[in-house]
Amino acid sequence: MNTKNGAHAPTGSACLEKVLERLDKVRSNGAGKWMACCPAHPDQNPSLSIREATDGRVLIHCWAGCETRDVMAAIGFEMRDLFPGDKRLKRGPSKAALFHERCIYNIGVSTSMRGVEMSPADHARFKLACKRLGVKHE
Ligand SMILES: [Zn+2]
Repeated sequence: MNTKNGAHAPTGSACLEKVLERLDKVRSNGAGKWMACCPAHPDQNPSLSIREATDGRVLIHCWAGCETRDVMAAIGFEMRDLFPGDKRLKRGPSKAALFHERCIYNIGVSTSMRGVEMSPADHARFKLACKRLGVKHE
């Protein structure tokens, strides 16, 4: 928690806390509002306004006109750090795609169980489905 310079310890989101920790002369400016020196320009009097939106987003505004992006870059953050719970989307197949692969796999398995020879194209597709599902199949 950041209590230096008499700033109120932030009670909000972790991202707000991280932002406030890296700013100078942070002081509380009301409920959920702070002022600090802008790291993106030579700032003697705090001209950076920091606010926490009700949805947990951190709103930053430099009254001297710095871009929020530049302010964030100056303290080693990216824009997405201002958004709580903004996890990177997991890369991978969708549920529907997995279901589709599973169908192909099941068809392939039942085909070979019936002793039916798969066409080379079907066999290749079956092997691809196995690979995508992470299933080993001889
Ligand atoms: Zn600025």
